[in-house]
Parts: sequence; structure tokens; C-alpha cells
Amino acid sequence: MKKIGIIRCQQTEDYCPSTKCLLTAKEGQGSLEAAGLGACEVVGVISCGGCPGKRSIMRAQELIKRGAEVIMMASCITKGTPIGFPCPNKALMLRSIRNKVGEDFPIVEYSHN
Ligand code: SF4
Repeated sequence: MKKIGIIRCQQTEDYCPSTKCLLTAKEGQGSLEAAGLGACEVVGVISCGGCPGKRSIMRAQELIKRGAEVIMMASCITKGTPIGFPCPNKALMLRSIRNKVGEDFPIVEYSHN
């Protein structure tokens, strides 16, 4: 079982306690099923740190230090779940995280539908 660290949108924390992302990891659904990873052990859930998302880069590194073998960018960032408003900085955030952690480090770009 892989260890996973989840990065989420800080702006959705008011009304989403990560329930579906945690279930996705526990049951290996959604992006994890699509990526062939299956169920994963969550080592941490942390927000992007707030707009414009710069803090997500150091936070991804911290999740890796704490054992994450996969980083999951939650659907609130990349799909705009649950209100249909994706992060306007999602592409830059993803690119910057990849630049920092390495192109080969596994990143799943959403959690669930
Ligand atoms: S940068 Fe994007 S993911 Fe982070 S709080 Fe702002 S809208 Fe949400």
C-alpha cells in the first residue's frame, strides 16, 4: 500500500472536511483506481496555504519528508469540486511542485469526481 499526501484548496476548508478525499484514499477509488494505485495510507492532508498557492510547493516537500510516495492534488483545486470553481492557479501550482519534487515523482491531479 502506497503512502499518500493530499493537498487541498484552503478556500474550501470552510465547508469541506476532506471526507470524500479520505474515503477515496481508503478505498482506492477515483484517481487512485484510474492510476492503478488502489487504496493508500494517508500521511497528511494540508491546504495549499491560501491564494495564490505558493505555499503548496513547500507543503508538498513536507508531505514527502513525512513519508508520502504519492502527492494527490484534491479535486477542490483541479476540478473545482464541490462548487464548480477550479483554482485559477492550478497549472502553475502543479508545474511548480513538479519542478521542486522532480518530474518522476507521482502526482495524481484530482481525487474524486
Ligand atoms: S490558490 Fe487555488 S487552491 Fe489555493 S486557496 Fe486559492 S483558489 Fe484555493
